[in-house]
Amino acid sequence: MTVTYSELSAKGLVIEKHPNPTQFENHSDLPSSRATDYLLEVTWTIDQGWGTPSLHPYGPLSLDPASSVLHYATTCFEGMKAYRSFDGKKVTLFRPLDNINRLNDSCARASLPQLEPNAALALLEKFVEMEARFIAPGSFIYLRPMVMGTNAHLGLTTPTEAKFLIMASMMPKLNAAPLKLCSSPPDQIRAWKGGFGYAKLGANYGPTLKANNEAIKNGFSQVLWLMGEEGIVTEAGGANFFAVIKNEKTGKDEIMTCPLTTGVILPGVTRRSVLELLRNKYTSEGVEVNEKEFTISDIEKASDEGRLVEAFAVGTAYFIAPVQTIRTPAGKDISVPMSIGTSGDYAHYIKETLSQIMWSKVEHPWSHPVASAQ
Ligand SMILES: *Cc1c(COP(=O)(O)O)cnc(C)c1O
Repeated sequence: MTVTYSELSAKGLVIEKHPNPTQFENHSDLPSSRATDYLLEVTWTIDQGWGTPSLHPYGPLSLDPASSVLHYATTCFEGMKAYRSFDGKKVTLFRPLDNINRLNDSCARASLPQLEPNAALALLEKFVEMEARFIAPGSFIYLRPMVMGTNAHLGLTTPTEAKFLIMASMMPKLNAAPLKLCSSPPDQIRAWKGGFGYAKLGANYGPTLKANNEAIKNGFSQVLWLMGEEGIVTEAGGANFFAVIKNEKTGKDEIMTCPLTTGVILPGVTRRSVLELLRNKYTSEGVEVNEKEFTISDIEKASDEGRLVEAFAVGTAYFIAPVQTIRTPAGKDISVPMSIGTSGDYAHYIKETLSQIMWSKVEHPWSHPVASAQ
């Protein structure tokens, strides 16, 4: 008998109604960090490809203890949000195909199967439609698509079975206090050339918790991940990092962020959007927006010479977070200017502009309406 391989498809989605859906009067009554009611699940095998997707009540998975993911970290994920406009009428995603394409890049790095992008988007929309009642006007839910290797075989081999899952959770109100960053300890590194820092693999995150816990214990919010002897600044926790300095030669502001070319940083959708917004708005004013390597010493020197303008971290989870302090590896605290009190001008501009797009105050091609969600 010949077996045909099926690509991921949203066709035939089976919806198993929740017997006991969460009841709530106000969204504020819902505990933060709690999962919503449903889980989307699609299974894959190497011979038959993707099976029929199902949306069923959220609950524990049953995995064989020999499952690939539990031993070899064959897992990757995405972090997205579904937003509801302030008037309550529109539910949107933000550049969702960028996330799906990145999930596919992550899958490729971990030898996991690819998702047909439009099918993955259709399933994401179905999921959001189902859970839209959890999104308060002017708010969001956090979406977590993931792929993992589930075949039960202790030999170190390419996954022959996998699952694509989508869950969502409520998120605590963001703490809007500016970030205090602590340079990563000299004996730890988040990612390296030839590694997989560019992919959202589970394997990238567990090992960062040690430094993160240490930083939090010392009163910081996140780790500023440095790379190499020279201390190249890569990322801030799970967010991309931007610094603005006055260029020594031109005297103009220069906005800098680590480039994607070395494969050590995660290519954030927010990062990309921020670069596009900044280039559009400020290039004509002579401000340079550069994806280039810079070091913690460059920041320290700019600060010593009064040329440090601002710094901020960007990502879906923490959105646009101004930075107020950076501790260098030598233990010196650099105080980062904040031109308008709790933020610098650039971070403020980006945050305002992106907020308007995300919460549908303006029409924008980056905003993807989920037409069927009410
Ligand atoms: C997810 C993530 C980001 C941010 O990416 P967005 O697409 O903007 O959410 C940045 N750095 C790391 C390490 C991440 O995991």
